[in-house]
Amino acid sequence: MPTELNTNENANSMTKKLWEKHQGDEYTKVSNYKEAVCLGCMKVDVAAATIADICGDCASKKGREPLLAKVCDKYYGLCFFCSKYKFHIEQVNGRFCQTCHGRIAKVTKEYNEKGGFMKADPFWISLRKKHGKDFKKLMGGNNHSNRR
Ligand SMILES: [Zn+2]
Ligand SMILES: [Zn+2]
Repeated sequence: MPTELNTNENANSMTKKLWEKHQGDEYTKVSNYKEAVCLGCMKVDVAAATIADICGDCASKKGREPLLAKVCDKYYGLCFFCSKYKFHIEQVNGRFCQTCHGRIAKVTKEYNEKGGFMKADPFWISLRKKHGKDFKKLMGGNNHSNRR
């Protein structure tokens, strides 16, 4: 059993469940050497699972093999692979080698440092510029009074 090896550094209850599900399956199981196809660079290397957002273009280039599971669909978001904001993002649970884990961590760190999607995303930035003071009203707080 590979349980004593730390394959799931960023594990939470959901990724753990996914991990267990995959380890129970002959086809998706990761070897005791932790080697698997990395979704980032497509090399077979020691790879650990994490959650990542991927756009349709990147996903179709990469194929489905290294995906553990699709977590959910997002209408719009940041793709961790091409670092672009796109429509139809998929949030997936996939395996990544050390290098690609680092790359993703960098993308998400920059994103969080900027203040999340409202401040990093060109779509929201342009909205904010366009609407200025009204932006706050538009987005938030007293939703109930704006609701039609
Ligand atoms: Zn990789
Ligand atoms: Zn992409």
